[in-house]
Amino acid sequence: MMSTHHPSGTVLRGVGVGAGRVIGPVRRMPHPITAPEEGAPLPAGATVESETERLGAAAQAVAANLRARAASASGDAAAVLKATALMAGDKTLLKAAGKLVATGTSAESAIWEAAEAVALQLEALGGYMAERATDVLDVRARIVAELRGIPAPGIPEADEPFVLCAEDLAPADTAALDPARVLALVTSAGGPQSHTAIIARSMGLPAVVAAPETAGLTDGTQVFVDGSAGVVIADPGPEEEAAAAAYAQRTPLPAFGGMGATADGHRVPLLANVGGGADARAAAEAGAEGVGLLRTEFCFLGREKEPGHELQVSAYREVFDAFPGQKVVVRTLDAGADKPLPFLTDSTEPNPALGVRGYRTDVSVPGVLARQLAAIAEAAGASTAEVWVMAPMVSTPAEAADFAALCAAAGLRTPGVMVEVPSAAVLARSVLANVRFASIGTNDLTQYVMAADRQLAPLAALNDPWQPAVLHLVRHTVEGGVQAGGVPVGVCGEAAADPALAVVLVGLGVATLSMNRRALSPVSAVLSTVTLERARELAALALDAPSAAEARKRVRAELPDLERFGL
Ligand code: PEP
Ligand code: MG
Repeated sequence: MMSTHHPSGTVLRGVGVGAGRVIGPVRRMPHPITAPEEGAPLPAGATVESETERLGAAAQAVAANLRARAASASGDAAAVLKATALMAGDKTLLKAAGKLVATGTSAESAIWEAAEAVALQLEALGGYMAERATDVLDVRARIVAELRGIPAPGIPEADEPFVLCAEDLAPADTAALDPARVLALVTSAGGPQSHTAIIARSMGLPAVVAAPETAGLTDGTQVFVDGSAGVVIADPGPEEEAAAAAYAQRTPLPAFGGMGATADGHRVPLLANVGGGADARAAAEAGAEGVGLLRTEFCFLGREKEPGHELQVSAYREVFDAFPGQKVVVRTLDAGADKPLPFLTDSTEPNPALGVRGYRTDVSVPGVLARQLAAIAEAAGASTAEVWVMAPMVSTPAEAADFAALCAAAGLRTPGVMVEVPSAAVLARSVLANVRFASIGTNDLTQYVMAADRQLAPLAALNDPWQPAVLHLVRHTVEGGVQAGGVPVGVCGEAAADPALAVVLVGLGVATLSMNRRALSPVSAVLSTVTLERARELAALALDAPSAAEARKRVRAELPDLERFGL
């Protein structure tokens, strides 16, 4: 986002997506595979048949290699590698390339152009789908390298651990990262939701994305990376060395014991955000007290058609079965904007974040929501999980009432709403009077309050849930819940996963926090160091701050345990 000078050297400011402070030498990702000549003819001596065969064999070799790497990886890394392997063997892509070969084009040019077309289509869809375009281009580069008989593009080799710098990282590369060799990640592209960010978080690697001018960081340059602050400093001095040394000495975080509470025993259930069954099982293993957000659209991304009843029931059952007897909050399909579902989303909308998304699709494509509620009810009836259901993007009291009525008709007794549109926060009292609970989606609430697209790296400073304006709306929503007769208000946006901000949210009266499972241990560790009264004092400090940066700074200064844990 910005670069300045500092006594130690150049300072690059990006977006921190993985906490931690380290120093190490830079290694840059090798240059990407160069494009073949456009429409290059079949190589001398080749026939359409032999070239088609060569292409198929190269794709198969790439897929096999990725599958082998997936087998020796685990968790998210294995999943990403498997998905990339599937794409390498994707029939549609190979068919499209095969057609070009049949017209006399070389295998290299054919796969290059075919993948280009697929990537462009994905990019046009925007958001989550656009990020999948990187996967297609990654597969293309691997197939071309295989055809050329040169090494696949990938993580550089080095004798000592290094800070990996790149324009952006392909998912298969990030998945292959060895945390024993890579100290930190710095990329100039990418955003908080990119693969780089997801993998870095899941591996616990310090990482900064959207950092400017990383091209200036040449191989061997010593850099300090602060993944909490989103800062990279070239040629670090004593101050940075001390910070990195303190981080290396950090107290290891205790595993989450399964009961979130403040130091004086005020209970704050810590729940997990999940996107499906595998995620839910991993969250249960990490001690989550339930699911605070099941993003049901993640079960069906990329589907051309509405998933059928049985398919839905089994997808939800998998999640419920991971949490027998515990709470699972199901969010109805939040299609649109960064998560388009072809059967619900109008891809021609000029301004998708302000478009027909979330609960609003019930008007444009009626029936899908009622059918989803019926599937949730059936899955709930067959499990012991305590199933709550909420709608995303609810904007008015009438919408909340309509949703509650739909839930009642489906036999679902605990309807709720997400508060992520500012109007719902402003009118929290009347909105919440219609439902049994609310969950604040701070990701969207922040983007709408600050009028800053949550996907845009250059607006990351505005798009910060520490913004006092956001915190005031959180407080107002909690007060609305009290006035509505004691409707509990939780938070399930990324704000809940920031241990310092989690303390502030509890101080503002938030009842439950829901987060990615990796955040359970840090959030519970920090929460257990403050009393409820102290959390309220810290919340007051943050509310009074003139800026997000100042709010964060003031609160963090009062939480010395963050430093102890290296958070
Ligand atoms: C949010 O907006 O904060 C939220 C939790 O929903 P999503 O990130 O899926 O939009
Ligand atoms: Mg949202």
